[in-house]
Amino acid sequence: MLKYDLHCHSNFSDGTLSVDELVSRAADKGVDVLALTDHDTIAGIAPARAAIAAQALDLELVAGVEISTRWHSFEIHIVGLQVETQAPELTALLAEQQQKRSERAVKIGERLQKAGFENTYEQACELAAEAQVTRAHFARVLMAQGAAKTFQGIFKKYLSRGNTGYVPSTWCDMHTAIKAIAAAGGQSVLAHPARYKMSNKWLRKLVNEFATLGGDAMEVAQTQQAPCERQFLGQLAREHGLLCSQGSDFHFPLPYIELGKNLYLPKDCEGVWQRWQ
Ligand code: AMP
Ligand code: MN
Ligand code: MN
Ligand code: MN
Repeated sequence: MLKYDLHCHSNFSDGTLSVDELVSRAADKGVDVLALTDHDTIAGIAPARAAIAAQALDLELVAGVEISTRWHSFEIHIVGLQVETQAPELTALLAEQQQKRSERAVKIGERLQKAGFENTYEQACELAAEAQVTRAHFARVLMAQGAAKTFQGIFKKYLSRGNTGYVPSTWCDMHTAIKAIAAAGGQSVLAHPARYKMSNKWLRKLVNEFATLGGDAMEVAQTQQAPCERQFLGQLAREHGLLCSQGSDFHFPLPYIELGKNLYLPKDCEGVWQRWQ
């Protein structure tokens, strides 16, 4: 059976590994099929393919992206899989999202400045280099300035909704992301549904709306997850006629989150890859 990991990040967004390091690590960990899904960019896909060829790895790369969207007061992530990287509608949407990321980064910097943290915008941009600037870059800068002991603590105190450095999002809506992914010949996947800190009532409303808008699949299996959650999400997917996906959401090496680790679907779940040819 092939090992699929359909969600991970490189340093084209907020991952710390280069695409060369990422694909070689995936092959080492026994992954057969890897989707690179950086935040709001597909710029890493071609270099990742080149790295696989250069290292002669036995690894199949799926062109992917993770698009940030706005739904009520939540930021919902939609993963696109098997997207054409030259598709005009998707390219245009990602350009808009990237513009929004840049504008938001300036505002985050201004807010953190008022809270007494100097030059966080400049430092986050420097850290991101050519990549998409994310809150994770600001978190690393704040860590270096001693704002909190852990990454989680930084988000909790400064960067998550309702905190000093949080700027309400202006991301596109879910339908726009789903349409752009479909126009690029891809499948849209509702990312990490259990991580939005919403009640089950809201989660059902979200999954229902995603499916109604033409979403194809939802992530059911993640690396770090209670078995009952996996069962629950599998059932929710079936109830709404959605295919199932799985991914580590790997950003950097950690003892408990690893490429390809602990990824399998509950029985009676149809993998999103079963429709691929
Ligand atoms: P952004 O897309 O710029 O809003 O940044 C969101 C990214 O920050 C996510 O993709 C995660 O990688 C990271 N992140 C968000 N919340 C947390 C958290 N509580 N702890 C650690 N990382 C987080
Ligand atoms: Mn991230
Ligand atoms: Mn995400
Ligand atoms: Mn992700």
